[in-house]
Amino acid sequence: MICHLSFTVRRILAGCVFCAVFTTNFSWGQADDEPRIPWDEAQQLFKAGAYEELLPKLRVQTGANPWNDTWWYLQGKTLMTLGRYEEAYETIQEGLTRRTYSISLRLLAIEASKFNNTPEEAREHINALGGYFSMWARRVRSPDALIELGQVALMLGVEPRIVLENFFKRAQEYEDTPTEAYLVSGKLALDKHDYRLASQIFQTGLKKFPEDPDMWYGLAASFMNGDRSQLIEYAEKTLSINENHVPSMLLMAEHLIDAEAYDDAIVVLDNALKVNPIHPDVLAFFAVIAYLQNEIAAADLYRKTALSSWKTNPNVDHQIGRKLSQKYWFREGAEAQRRALAMDPKFALAKLQLAQDLLRLGSTFEDEGWKLANEAHDKDPYNVEAYNLVTLSDKIDEFVVIESKNFFLKMGAQEAAVYGKRASELLERAYSHLTEKYGITMDEKTTVEVYPNPGDFGVRTFGMPGNPGYLGVCFGPVVTVNSPTTRQANWESVLWHEFCHTITLKMTRNRIPRWLSEGISVYEEIEENSSWGRRMSLDYRERILDRKMQKISEMSAAFIQAQTDEDVQFAYFQSYLVVKFIFDIYGAEAMQKVLQDLGKGINTDEALESHVAPVEYLNRSFAVWAKETAQQVGGDYQLSKPETLLEQALSAINPDDDYQKALEEAAKLIDEEDWEGAREALEIIVERAGYLPGEDNAHGMLAYVYQKLDESEKELETLMKIAAQDAHHLDAMKRLMALALDAEDWKSLKRWSNAWLAINPLAETPWRGLFEAEENLNDSVGAVAAGEALVHLEPHDIASIHYRIAKQLIKSNKKSAHRQVLMALEEAPRYRDAYILLKELNQSTTEDNIPF
Ligand SMILES: [Zn+2]
Repeated sequence: MICHLSFTVRRILAGCVFCAVFTTNFSWGQADDEPRIPWDEAQQLFKAGAYEELLPKLRVQTGANPWNDTWWYLQGKTLMTLGRYEEAYETIQEGLTRRTYSISLRLLAIEASKFNNTPEEAREHINALGGYFSMWARRVRSPDALIELGQVALMLGVEPRIVLENFFKRAQEYEDTPTEAYLVSGKLALDKHDYRLASQIFQTGLKKFPEDPDMWYGLAASFMNGDRSQLIEYAEKTLSINENHVPSMLLMAEHLIDAEAYDDAIVVLDNALKVNPIHPDVLAFFAVIAYLQNEIAAADLYRKTALSSWKTNPNVDHQIGRKLSQKYWFREGAEAQRRALAMDPKFALAKLQLAQDLLRLGSTFEDEGWKLANEAHDKDPYNVEAYNLVTLSDKIDEFVVIESKNFFLKMGAQEAAVYGKRASELLERAYSHLTEKYGITMDEKTTVEVYPNPGDFGVRTFGMPGNPGYLGVCFGPVVTVNSPTTRQANWESVLWHEFCHTITLKMTRNRIPRWLSEGISVYEEIEENSSWGRRMSLDYRERILDRKMQKISEMSAAFIQAQTDEDVQFAYFQSYLVVKFIFDIYGAEAMQKVLQDLGKGINTDEALESHVAPVEYLNRSFAVWAKETAQQVGGDYQLSKPETLLEQALSAINPDDDYQKALEEAAKLIDEEDWEGAREALEIIVERAGYLPGEDNAHGMLAYVYQKLDESEKELETLMKIAAQDAHHLDAMKRLMALALDAEDWKSLKRWSNAWLAINPLAETPWRGLFEAEENLNDSVGAVAAGEALVHLEPHDIASIHYRIAKQLIKSNKKSAHRQVLMALEEAPRYRDAYILLKELNQSTTEDNIPF
């Protein structure tokens, strides 16, 4: 990798020299013998990416038709595409001497001036456009003119929505509407992060222009935050029409960088440099890869080269920073945005990205982050992300902040009242345990935000309201989680998992591959509580045995390339398995050293080789180990559905060995209410296969059969097996709680009420169960806490809850007991027992002489 990068640096520099020599030696008259090319054909060549072939033909045309600005424009644009900025500048200047009022030429001249480091000329062109605007506006008679004027209006700072409605959309209504009508609209939506609208516009455009590469590119780009397989498909479609389409190559490279497939990204970027050897965005991506691989000198050189043609191009640092932030390098990302803003203080995208970075850097930077988000929104009101963020800040202001020794826990007021303390205590427990285990201290409090609204969680976490199924996300000192009310999962394990990311991110200074970070977080969940985390399911087992497991180096990519939710789940599971393998075989110290090395900037392969094993060896030995582990699941059953002829034949010979068939037959017996038959069948399955999580759960069925047969003890035993393996299994927790209540087994009632609350902390029944259990266990502190949580859920018998809390408080806190009994009477003034208790309290307090 190191050699490759250095080689590419040399090639870029060679490319620049070549470019300079080429441009200075070029003379205009060389192509005089070329035949004239029709306009449609010329456009076709441009769209197909035949830039070099096209250029001499364009020179003939501009020579022969110097008064026609479209030829000058296409020639200038072709030269810009090839990175021949100086030549482009001269061409456009010459064109403008012939056609002073050409809008398209002047728009292109702005770009060319910037890329020739003459910003003052760019401003002059903008001023000129402003001066001619009203004159042009009176003469608008064609869709082309509408499109051009719309672009001028944008340049002059007119509100983008107005431009979209009054210029671009109107241009789309013409019979002979050109492709640009859709391209400029779609680009505007993309620039403002309005991906849904962008996608719609490009799809509509493609109905009219199905072979336009820019249209396919736009559609691909609209999937940057969505389904990546579509992004790849459409970018490939673009490249099949125009193999030199640099923006599409950038999209592909960006996807590969996200997948940590840096070598592949470099191949794509190298191809892009063959079209334009000094393309700033391409070089910015090279810089990103070099920074991520700790090749700082090479990275700086790429950045410098990216800025060689336009020295104050704010987009270079903006792009570098944006990608670094996506790799969790928020500090470095923020620095890059600050550099971009130093070059152009009005650059709203850098301001918005900086705001996002600061909001992920923890409490110290929060105020500045929100301030910048507001500024970005003021500057660019149509930007969807900025708008979302500003709207969100008002909602966050209403959150309750529970501050503890090491955390700021922010959540909705009602949720905070019910389970805030519980969550806060869990976080502190995770802090003590994990900081000690990994031998680190945190230098600031971690902020944990719990979102009752999934849309708000999405905006805070991804900048957009959509959420691809995450329970929580950790940025280091900032953790965002979906409220447990929004989905059924064990929120205690989620908090533990996310805070573990805070630890590993801190240890590695955010230089940790995704698979390792996720793997450790899942591993630590299971270490803390064996029913948390993930277990080998039938699906995982099949994937492992079918060799669908990724190599270790490709495991991070599995997260973003996942097509289905099951793929994502498996990405977590295989990452966990590798981590478990390392812990089991090489020990915790080896893992700690790997993390420390990553923090020093050493790459993952080297760190693993130093403290664990060479990656190739690790891949092989891990695959064998994972296979053995998978095979241990399910006993001697044939677990998967027989698919091949051989499997079907074997299944026919040994029908009893077919797990799925056995389970189906048991289900049939349940349907027929043949409880004895079902019991017999399921007992055999459970005995042979052991516990298998997921939908095909024989234990769940067997517990139900025992319930029907009134065999409480066996039912209990089976349910306990489920609960010990799967802390997300709400039905099992509910039933266990009911059984404990029937048996007046208060300890068990406490345990299963807590287990239910760990899945849904806002449910009334488990709080009620916990309250009753604590009362009977004579734990008045626990009882009061449970009773108070229950009160916040406004139960129908709230008066009696206040009364029972009062009774718990009599000994320890008469003043509070008195308050509770008054609240009981406020709810139910004729509440006889409460009245008696009030009298007793009044008497005893007079005796004790305690003032209220
Ligand atoms: Zn995670």
